[in-house]
Amino acid sequence: MVKDTKYYDVLGVPPEATEAQLKSAYRKGALMYHPDKNKSPEAEQKFKDLSHAYEILSDSEKRQLYDQYGEEGLEQGGMGNGMAAEDLFAQFFGGGGAFGSMFGGNGGMRDQGPRKARTITHVHKVSLEDIYKGKVSKLALQKSVICKKCNGIGGKEGSVKKCPGCEGRGMKMMMRQMGPMIQRFQTVCPDCNGEGEIIRDRDRCKECHGKKTVIERKVLHVHVDRGVRSGTKIEFRGEGDQLPGVEPGDVVFEIEQKPHARFQRKEDDLYYQVEIDLLTALAGGRINIEHLDDRWLSVEIIPGEVISPGTIKKVPGQGMPSYRHHDFGNLYIQFDVKFPPRLFETEDPEVRAKQIKALESVLPPRSLDNPIPADAMFDDFTLEDIDPTREQVRSRGMTDDDDDEMGQGGERVQCASQ
Ligand SMILES: [Zn+2]
Ligand SMILES: [Zn+2]
Repeated sequence: MVKDTKYYDVLGVPPEATEAQLKSAYRKGALMYHPDKNKSPEAEQKFKDLSHAYEILSDSEKRQLYDQYGEEGLEQGGMGNGMAAEDLFAQFFGGGGAFGSMFGGNGGMRDQGPRKARTITHVHKVSLEDIYKGKVSKLALQKSVICKKCNGIGGKEGSVKKCPGCEGRGMKMMMRQMGPMIQRFQTVCPDCNGEGEIIRDRDRCKECHGKKTVIERKVLHVHVDRGVRSGTKIEFRGEGDQLPGVEPGDVVFEIEQKPHARFQRKEDDLYYQVEIDLLTALAGGRINIEHLDDRWLSVEIIPGEVISPGTIKKVPGQGMPSYRHHDFGNLYIQFDVKFPPRLFETEDPEVRAKQIKALESVLPPRSLDNPIPADAMFDDFTLEDIDPTREQVRSRGMTDDDDDEMGQGGERVQCASQ
């Protein structure tokens, strides 16, 4: 005579139900109320109740306690933490057993459903040239496939037996005395090493040694489309690991663009930094840019336009091809201007005076926006060089992270200490 029938009622079985009846009742209920499948508001609670009831009743010791003392008996028995409903479900339907490690961790299992092998993800690094031109990469992959010799059974037909120690689950609940508490914990079944099955050595498949799968090399052709962005994922459904009794996994390649020596890319635009001399900045000239498809761009700086340091100009349509649109971004050029280290090549004061006159004749006149008031006192000074090895100086702040391209050397320095 049982004290309480609540758990039996939850599963919809009589108190004298056999283990097989309990199992089939749980299986039916869990599939019906699993929150991934059943979105009704009461389903989640029902799923938890079912799992809890089954967890108790499927354990002969717990069932005995429950039958004798009801729920109170279980609490007094100090059973510690029960299994989470989701863990039980996974264990029951193939997630937590022999193939547990092949699934994509605890979180991934719910997303992918319990019966699919994990997704293999690989970051595919591609040069900016290849993204500009587009290409097909051949990537080799090591994956497990069902052993053809034994058709994924692991041995001769009929020689593979369910492990009696864990009833084929691969995992076993064990108890441990922790002071006054008895702690239950889940562990890999020692009889079958977590495989859930036992094969006699002489019956084992010679090809896969009873593992049911073998490792195979597979080459996949990954299309790197023109203008593809970093982070784009290219999916090969069902090309991942094969495991007995589960859907083959997927393979996903994530495109990552390698940094480029000349260009920086922002979406479909390219950025290029160039240093020009002062004469070109003032009187015009040409810069040559090696593009990503072996072309050279020869770009004219129109005389008299005047490029100041930091100026950004663009060459329309010379950026990246835009992904799946027949269009191109722009090429933006940021200029730095290299001033000559000194103006005069001669010591002759007459020649120097002439050269200054020549400059004064073409450049706007000198202007001072803060003249000294007529009645103020003043002293005269000249400038001295600083010694960067002894004085704390800092180069001009860069506009970008990549400081290899510009601003080398100490032409433009600021005194940071004053
Ligand atoms: Zn085999
Ligand atoms: Zn076992």
